Amino acid sequence: MTLGKTITSAKRILRKYTICDWCLGRQFAMQGYGLTNKDRGLALKTLLLMTGTETYHDNPKQGLTLIRHLVEHGQYQPAREFLLKEGITDIKPSQVCDICQGVMDRLPEAAQAAIQSLQDWEISSLLIGTRIDPTIIENEEQLRSELQIDSGEPIKAELNREIGKLVTEEKGIDVDFESPDVVALIQIPKFSVDLEVHSLFIYGRYQKLKRGIPQTRWPCRECGGKGCQRCKNTGKMYAESVEELIAPVLLELTQGKDVKFHGAGREDIDALMLGSGRPFVIEILSPHTRTIDLQKAIKRINKSTKGKVKVSNLRFANKDVVKHVKGGATTSKKVYKALVYVESPIRQDTLQTLQSVSLPLEVNQRTPHRVLHRRANRTRKKRIHTLEIVPVSSKSFELTISCQGGLYVKEFISGDEGRTVPSIAELLGTPAVCKQLDVVTVEIEEDQLPW
Ligand SMILES: [Zn+2]
Ligand SMILES: [Zn+2]
Repeated sequence: MTLGKTITSAKRILRKYTICDWCLGRQFAMQGYGLTNKDRGLALKTLLLMTGTETYHDNPKQGLTLIRHLVEHGQYQPAREFLLKEGITDIKPSQVCDICQGVMDRLPEAAQAAIQSLQDWEISSLLIGTRIDPTIIENEEQLRSELQIDSGEPIKAELNREIGKLVTEEKGIDVDFESPDVVALIQIPKFSVDLEVHSLFIYGRYQKLKRGIPQTRWPCRECGGKGCQRCKNTGKMYAESVEELIAPVLLELTQGKDVKFHGAGREDIDALMLGSGRPFVIEILSPHTRTIDLQKAIKRINKSTKGKVKVSNLRFANKDVVKHVKGGATTSKKVYKALVYVESPIRQDTLQTLQSVSLPLEVNQRTPHRVLHRRANRTRKKRIHTLEIVPVSSKSFELTISCQGGLYVKEFISGDEGRTVPSIAELLGTPAVCKQLDVVTVEIEEDQLPW
């Protein structure tokens, strides 16, 4: 659109509509640079007054009509002053803007509503969104179709941007379109605010030093969590879990609402988690505080768990780290230590056979019986990298296995009635069971995570 066309178009809008600077400027948002729509609207009204006063000298009637529109439809003060100077006083009061219903002049009020609702939340980034009364959108659409305007910007985009500017400037924080700490959704024109507070993610590693603790809270099978005789009204299968041992301190420090625990796989309830610990991310829902001292948190957690669980390496993470930590569980390398019992006494040379099996060893593992109720029945290929054996008695030995994550170690030992091939039982030629299983290492490349 040429500037001449723009001015003509603005003149036509003002003839018919009462329109504020913002709403007039927004119809030509694609023109100019580094301007707010208010700047544009005001500039157009200024140009129209200059045109009007020029016309007024040659053709008072025609000039006056335009200048009147600027006052009565355009709320333009200099045009009013011109009319008063000319002794024209029968000026109709200007109405509220036909498009935005006056919302655009109340942006600071909208910003204050958002700031008010954010006052209890510690945030460093924000995104403002708006839900706009449909009549406002319709008003604008009608004007555009009627005057065939195609150089405008949606009012929603402008409201989000302009309120966002006011709020982030006053709070001294950044706008973040990708992953803001909070999205503030403002109802237009009511200015009520709904907050969508995003989770805080904290990465770490845990050791589990006591058997019989599941990784996450496990609702009672009988009552589904409501509380019954079986669970002694706790609603849980187990009194405590790694999650429940770690979470309280973090919830208190962040004043969050709840947590979600994301582990890099999980060990059996009766297995220990040793070595450098298992990577996890704890997701804190609706945290009021985001900057907490993680070193202090580690100390407090480790004191509160009374040696059952220990955390280390806490650091702030994000949603993508969760994906990697969870997804990497099956591909990363793991080391287990198992106590194996066999049915018939084993000879030294049989153990040696096991020791000298060619590595890496590929294992075909059909979903074990004991997890069939929650996992698809299919065959998975897993690799064994190393096997180390230390005899304990004639019928038992300690087996250290380094393998691909996702291998069911107990079934690799027993063979699971032929569902895992080969197995320790098969290689030894005698039934074998895993009596105790601990996890020594869960490898994860921390440097490679998308921090
Ligand atoms: Zn307006
Ligand atoms: Zn129960």
